[in-house]
Amino acid sequence: MDVDVVVIGAGAIGLAVAAHLCLRQRVLVLERHHTYGLENSSHNSGVIHAGIYYPPGWLKTTLCLEGNRLLYQWAQAYGVPYRRLGKLIVAWEEDELPQLEALLRGAQANGVPDLYLLYPSEVAQLQPGLRVAGAIYSGSSGIVDQMAFMRSLLAEAQSHGALMAFHHEVVALRRGVDGFVVVYRGPEGEEGELPCRFLVNCAGLWADRVGAMLGYEPEGGPYNPPFRHCLNRGTYFDVVNREVASQVRCLLYPLPHSDRAGLGVHVTIDTEGQIHLGPDAQWVSPGEPIDFRNRGEGLERFLEAGRRFFPHLRPQDLAPGQVGYRPKLNRPGEPPCDFLIWEDRGYVHLGGIESPGLTASLAIARYVSRLLGVES
Ligand SMILES: Cc1cc2nc3c(=O)[nH]c(=O)nc-3n(C[C@H](O)[C@H](O)[C@H](O)COP(=O)(O)OP(=O)(O)OC[C@H]3O[C@@H](n4cnc5c(N)ncnc54)[C@H](O)[C@@H]3O)c2cc1C
Repeated sequence: MDVDVVVIGAGAIGLAVAAHLCLRQRVLVLERHHTYGLENSSHNSGVIHAGIYYPPGWLKTTLCLEGNRLLYQWAQAYGVPYRRLGKLIVAWEEDELPQLEALLRGAQANGVPDLYLLYPSEVAQLQPGLRVAGAIYSGSSGIVDQMAFMRSLLAEAQSHGALMAFHHEVVALRRGVDGFVVVYRGPEGEEGELPCRFLVNCAGLWADRVGAMLGYEPEGGPYNPPFRHCLNRGTYFDVVNREVASQVRCLLYPLPHSDRAGLGVHVTIDTEGQIHLGPDAQWVSPGEPIDFRNRGEGLERFLEAGRRFFPHLRPQDLAPGQVGYRPKLNRPGEPPCDFLIWEDRGYVHLGGIESPGLTASLAIARYVSRLLGVES
């Protein structure tokens, strides 16, 4: 099989990269599961972020802003369900207002469009019953159907000749004469080898393990920055009381706090109209197995967070929802990190692709293409 590029991983990032690179290169995607998008790309809030939270100059900022625009255009063009329903970031108390205003100034300086500072009465008009000291309204925030988005990427990539090998796990990598040799394990446990010129590591949570297969040092070395992931679990509860759920008009977020690994438990709507509360943020101990099941732990914490938005929320109004894992480059207690996307002689490493990775996916694909010199 003759291919130019091997993409490892068929999540939103790998599929977006494949759909973009296949316009100029022969692309093969290797995915260890039997189909695409079974890990993080299907276990998230499905929010199209505006790019509000990140420092100027970060990839998270620039790729989120560009990705936001590209994702709306893509969803429109390919018939992917989406809604530009807007988002409120609320200050519950007056002493949070300076932080709210600072967040607004930072976002405006980053070039985030369609932002407004709202008085409590304006918030109550937009989201009846919500009592706050003030809020930012972001008009470019929205939601997308993640699975439909990935389906459209897959179809687009395949229609331009990209090949998909599901049930193929990359187990070893080495540099070859003119590129790389990829060693994979197929569906029957058989191993095979495949040469390629470019290698793009979109293995999500496992990108650090895949990078180490090429001899790069996860803690940092002469040829690479540190890329070891530290996982952080995000759990959701679904709001199953229809009366409560029917009150929600837009995405509802608290102010982010620097001591949290996520954005704080928030309220999201999916494209089918279901309401979700979460995710929380729990660090995973080294060696603790990845488990996408929700066993219903932490209900009290979710009730407390949820009652800020819905004061009459009862335990029976919530049911355990999905679970996702953030591949973080910072450790507990350390400040957050940017996406880590670096290139070395035809290898592109995508590390720490946590939120807003889904939003940024189409922009990340273009960035990877530029890093490889496939487009200017
Ligand atoms: C709780 C939570 C909420 C989030 N909410 C949002 C949000 O609202 N908006 C937003 O923009 N982003 C959000 N994100 C971030 C977003 O989900 C991720 O950035 C994005 O899904 C990452 O996609 P990916 O393709 O890198 O990873 P994945 O979807 O995990 O895909 C990686 C793929 O690589 C495969 N793989 C791994 N190792 C190998 C191997 N050796 N061989 C072959 N295949 C391999 C895996 O099987 C997997 O399919 C959220 C994340 C979390 C955890």
